[in-house]
Amino acid sequence: MPLDFLKRKKDDDPAQPAHPTAATTGPAVLPEEVVAQDFQLKLYYAGKTSEGVRMRTGPNAMAELPGMLVGLAKSEIEVIEPLPIEFSQATPTIARPSEAMQWLNAHHVHSPIARHALVVLESIDAVDLAFDTFVCSLLDGEIDTSGYPEYNAVVGGVAAHWDEATGDMICRAVVGWGGRGVRGDTDRIGAKLLAGILTNILANQYAMGLTAVERPMPAAGRGGLVCAHCGFASAHERAFYCPKCGMRLLRG
Ligand SMILES: [Zn+2]
Repeated sequence: MPLDFLKRKKDDDPAQPAHPTAATTGPAVLPEEVVAQDFQLKLYYAGKTSEGVRMRTGPNAMAELPGMLVGLAKSEIEVIEPLPIEFSQATPTIARPSEAMQWLNAHHVHSPIARHALVVLESIDAVDLAFDTFVCSLLDGEIDTSGYPEYNAVVGGVAAHWDEATGDMICRAVVGWGGRGVRGDTDRIGAKLLAGILTNILANQYAMGLTAVERPMPAAGRGGLVCAHCGFASAHERAFYCPKCGMRLLRG
């Protein structure tokens, strides 16, 4: 169908009479069938998390995390710490500028691989930086010329949080992938990598064994307490343990 609306209006066209007579213009008639051009984008994000592993933790617990990706990481191993209260609304959703700005301010320092991992894993709620420390890397597949993982690349690593009941650190394996496309074998590769990470976590000298993961439920709103040990202002209202250093928070 010709795109009549793209043509100049007759009044603007010197070749046409300035004021056409009624005989040359009829009323616009709605066609019997509207011809539509369809547009669509299908984004596919997926991921997996393992059971938790309870760790016998000391003051250097967090320092153990990057080592759990040795042998699996195909890029630099990055540590993404829990977000303090000023970033409590951060979400990778560009249509919500306040949340998006918080997210960019919190994560622009990370690599394209880490940001891609966070977009995927936060979008599917597999990690929550209100309480998780996330250690991640590229695990499988390719990156594009800008350094961002392709849709079928698998990213992920270890997410750790402090168990609110015991104060133990709980580690779980996390993998994710996705974008503008999907491939049938990515799920299988992801499952294999998840098992590899869990094996590494269990092989750590401080691992005490598998445990059911009860992730803290972060409450939206005013956030929690300032850690007397490290000064971290938690966005996690119910926290008994500082998400950043794991020390017990003192209630005022
Ligand atoms: Zn602290």
